[in-house]
Amino acid sequence: MADHSTRSDVLIVGAGSAGSVLAERLSADPTCRVTVVEAGPGPDEPGVRDLTRNGLQLPIGAASPLAQRYRTRLTDDPARDADIVRGVTVGGSGAVNGGYFCRALPVDFDGPALPGWSWSEVIPHYRAIQTDLDFPDRADGGPIAIRRTNELVGSTAAFVDAARDAGLRWLPDLNAEPIGENSPPGIGAVPLNIVDGVRGGPGAAFLEPAAARPNLTVLPRTRVLRIRLSGSRAVGVETVGPDGPSVLEADRVVLSAGAISSAQLLMLSGIGPAATLRRLGIAVSADLAVGRRTWDHPEWVLPTTWTVAPQRPVLEVVLVIDGIEIRPYTGGFIAMVGDGTAGRPDWPHLGVALMNPRAAGRLSLHSTDPMVAPSIEHHYDRAGEDTAALRHGCEYAVEVLGTTTQLGEPMWSTSQHLCGTAPMGLDTDEHAVVDPRCRVRGIDRLWVVDGSVLPRITSRGPHATIAMIGHRAAEFVSAG
Ligand SMILES: Cc1cc2nc3c(=O)[nH]c(=O)nc-3n(C[C@H](O)[C@H](O)[C@H](O)COP(=O)(O)OP(=O)(O)OC[C@H]3O[C@@H](n4cnc5c(N)ncnc54)[C@H](O)[C@@H]3O)c2cc1C
Repeated sequence: MADHSTRSDVLIVGAGSAGSVLAERLSADPTCRVTVVEAGPGPDEPGVRDLTRNGLQLPIGAASPLAQRYRTRLTDDPARDADIVRGVTVGGSGAVNGGYFCRALPVDFDGPALPGWSWSEVIPHYRAIQTDLDFPDRADGGPIAIRRTNELVGSTAAFVDAARDAGLRWLPDLNAEPIGENSPPGIGAVPLNIVDGVRGGPGAAFLEPAAARPNLTVLPRTRVLRIRLSGSRAVGVETVGPDGPSVLEADRVVLSAGAISSAQLLMLSGIGPAATLRRLGIAVSADLAVGRRTWDHPEWVLPTTWTVAPQRPVLEVVLVIDGIEIRPYTGGFIAMVGDGTAGRPDWPHLGVALMNPRAAGRLSLHSTDPMVAPSIEHHYDRAGEDTAALRHGCEYAVEVLGTTTQLGEPMWSTSQHLCGTAPMGLDTDEHAVVDPRCRVRGIDRLWVVDGSVLPRITSRGPHATIAMIGHRAAEFVSAG
């Protein structure tokens, strides 16, 4: 076993979107010894930074060293299976994603009304993580730079022209509250954490600049296998890394391993649905609804007859109507991931995404081996209203686009926004896995801070919100 004699004050599992922000915030206090354990490679390894910085491609192709694939069942009737991907490197999924970085809507926070998470309480944290270069007089000033695309070409330009011709208005700022000139329906430029083609997510903007702090240790290529509990208290983690297996002790343990891995680690450590855990022979430490009600944005994708616009961010504008985003992607999947196109057809797709779905999914453990992926079922077709809304979105798109392109048959897909596997809630909420301070119910010194804790999927892509959660929760973990 490797010898890690220093005990951390806080050990964070996963240097992803939330974990990177949290690690930077906590280690800003020089008396707080922070260790971040990351399964994937660090940014200094050959080729990693080139892949994560290139905001014009998603390094998630079959051969990518930065992506882990999971199988999911998207729909039940008929059964449709698909791959979903998570980023595995410093920066996590935020280092490989599409760069759409947009705040949620006030209703996403004021609806659940959790103490400490009202819209007015989270707004300062959204501001503290980003600087919007298009609105310099904003009261923001965080390290993640945001810019929208102004020169529209290819499928984006064709889409905007068609939307304008159909009488839809331009929404000046999708990051603003959806009132007045910003209220949908309308079309707007996507706020992107891609500036001049360079992706700058939470890993690059928060964790990397802090990595030289003497009180911050980042352990890349080190996988956490389980949380160590002493009675009902978290005392560390079991890992396997370049030097073999190890136990790392800490006063506080935070899971920021993302919606799939944080849930898996909880269950492997005896925190989850008691019946399932017992069936697998895992001793139950806390009977909680881990993975029982997950969320994502279902998406129907339709091939277009537009041509690929190379060297563009994958999505530059969206049309927002009644809980639906219509997304004219600039390329097809091959262009997006940069895999060879030789002899293979590739068209830009139109995405129709449902932003407030009713049907929940499920993530469950079926092996005690940490290397065996949990099973994931999206159950996208469980609610008739969801399917009807997606169909309505497609019809709307056909109407708006008219003869500007020919749309193919819609296919079920996913926005890759899985979240909510360890949702936050009050003690009275049977689904709540963590309390409003992100503490795991019934277990001392253990927090979850990442997309797992969202009680519902946000009405916009979740990335900005998950990074914001890292910033917001630093105060809770710091207070102990
Ligand atoms: C291809 C793709 C495109 C996307 N595009 C967008 C977009 O444009 N806009 C948007 O809003 N959202 C997008 N998303 C979703 C968004 O990126 C994620 O929801 C968000 O980054 C999740 O943040 P997180 O902190 O919860 O987890 P992650 O960022 O996934 O971080 C988890 C980290 O934990 C590490 N880890 C996992 N297990 C272990 C373990 N056992 N031990 C140690 N480390 C571990 C992982 O390697 C990873 O670094 C996209 C997602 C994907 C995959």
